[in-house]
Amino acid sequence: MLLFTPGPTPVPESIRLAMAEPTIHHRTPEFEAIFKETREELFKLFGTDEVIMLASSGTGAMESAVTNLCHHTLLNINSGKFGERFGKIAQANGLGSVELKYEWNTPANIEDVLEALAKNPAIDALAIQISESAGGLRHPVEAIAAAVKKVRPDIMVIADGITAIGVEKIDVSNIDAVLAGSQKALMLPPGLSILGLSKAAIEKIGKGKGYYFNLATEIKNQRANTTAWTAATTLTIGLLAVLKQIDAEGGLEQLYMNTQKRSAAVLGALEALGLSSYPQTPALSMTTIIDDDASKIRNILNSDFGVNVAGGQDHLKGKIFRINQMGLIKPYEISWVVNAVELALDKMGRRVYDGTANKIFNELYFSLTNQEDIK
Ligand SMILES: *Cc1c(COP(=O)(O)O)cnc(C)c1O
Repeated sequence: MLLFTPGPTPVPESIRLAMAEPTIHHRTPEFEAIFKETREELFKLFGTDEVIMLASSGTGAMESAVTNLCHHTLLNINSGKFGERFGKIAQANGLGSVELKYEWNTPANIEDVLEALAKNPAIDALAIQISESAGGLRHPVEAIAAAVKKVRPDIMVIADGITAIGVEKIDVSNIDAVLAGSQKALMLPPGLSILGLSKAAIEKIGKGKGYYFNLATEIKNQRANTTAWTAATTLTIGLLAVLKQIDAEGGLEQLYMNTQKRSAAVLGALEALGLSSYPQTPALSMTTIIDDDASKIRNILNSDFGVNVAGGQDHLKGKIFRINQMGLIKPYEISWVVNAVELALDKMGRRVYDGTANKIFNELYFSLTNQEDIK
């Protein structure tokens, strides 16, 4: 079965093997050396002043960013399940909460954010997804962050990059916390989350908040190449293997370029079948198709063609399906996925199979590159 859900994503074999070694103790020079090397790789990936690894799923990074960086009221952008979660985290921690709500295909806009800030002077942090996975939507986070900092440099900008870090280069110059999670673009099993922090964020964190998720405690320890609590040793070893694998396959620039080509080729192939993209501004992390037959298509992909893609949640249940584009994906795997969608449409009597999806995918993917990229 080909796993093509936008999280969890498949773990490459070399990474699985790297994690198959006997468990090592986390308070040893051996693990500290691995931790140090992983940190150095993460600084390159994030481009931030500090990076912190936590033994938690992505939501742990979201909660720690909110509790440590928001001391009064959080403004959260809700264009989907994950944006909504930021508001729930603020409320669960007794913080003030202001929400800007959009349809799941609609990106936030600068004017709305500035208006909300002007109306609610207690807001001291903004939380937004770079890629909102619920509908495959890309928010204009960099532009919003720049506009916010221009009028209110004290506002902490928290950007959830769980389906963006490792997908595309993010300009973090106006972002205070950017979040990643192991089971999405980083191609690992779930259980590790990462925060990239700005100098301003470190200042605001001060002595930190909370206990397990106290970022001041972690900053102090992780600068010494250790963790406050037991590190996710096996996942850290896996993460280092992932980052080295990315380097071996041409580095971050190559990964971003391939992801962008893959994204354009999948979208082009599916649109050539008459299918429609859901988000107004699609994220590169996934292609999201809106279709009344979404459930039927997913079921046929699964039962007849060995392809597992994600559906929708809440009001989009049965109305969308989402195909992952994150990670080191082979073109011959994803071209099978678009081909299988065409086969499914034929089975349903919606169009006669003629290989259009596969043809368009390959034309788009390989005309933008050279033959050396076929690996
Ligand atoms: C997956 C995901 C998360 C984190 O979810 P966990 O289940 O806690 O790992 C947060 N934000 C986005 C955009 C995601 O895609």
